[in-house]
Amino acid sequence: MGLQDIQDRIAKACTDAGRAAGSVQLIAVSKVQPNDRVRTVLEQGHRCFGENRVQEAMGKWPDFREDFDGIDLHLIGPLQSNKARAAFGLFQSIHSLDRPKLATALARIAQEEGHCPELFIQVNTGEEDQKAGVLPAQADGFVAECRAMDLPVRGLMCIPPVDEEPALHFALLAKIAERNGLAGLSMGMSSDFERAVALGATHIRVGSAIFGDRVPA
Ligand SMILES: *Cc1c(COP(=O)(O)O)cnc(C)c1O
Repeated sequence: MGLQDIQDRIAKACTDAGRAAGSVQLIAVSKVQPNDRVRTVLEQGHRCFGENRVQEAMGKWPDFREDFDGIDLHLIGPLQSNKARAAFGLFQSIHSLDRPKLATALARIAQEEGHCPELFIQVNTGEEDQKAGVLPAQADGFVAECRAMDLPVRGLMCIPPVDEEPALHFALLAKIAERNGLAGLSMGMSSDFERAVALGATHIRVGSAIFGDRVPA
């Protein structure tokens, strides 16, 4: 557990997969974690973090940004259209683009602001009712729709079903990304990031294995 341990495991997973060290970006998922744990990881030099709620991120990251330069913040949770503008001011990447209405809102704000976070389209690879994301069969069409709006689509993201082998979902996501010419793959969490690296993940989202168990609010 801890940052160094996870970095070592990523490096080994890269070597095992014949991938260049440093070809995987570690997003340290700090949602619900006490600020002192987050600060410790910042003091160790890490700068890339993930949050799943805009509101929660607004409450802590402006303060951390006063103390630490170069923070790279990723939104990994659902985004309501009415929070899109706030997300623009806070996040360098958004991993939860999952519907046309949100794409339209982001495109409009991007026009107005003259910039846009890098975007990952979330794919509901397990076709679960309760989970966000476009269905695999709709992914190609939605990628095209977003590109037609000039949105900077960097890649795809998935959260596999809890009770299935994640590697099947990582492989499916990689296949959809490849046929759409997308380089980014946001996949893999504390329990399965090595398998995600083996299947081509470019961004892994690791929370509890770095920070410890989340403290319930
Ligand atoms: C919380 C969360 C993670 C990190 O989960 P851990 O199991 O703590 O590594 C990754 N991705 C998303 C979308 C999350 O909400």
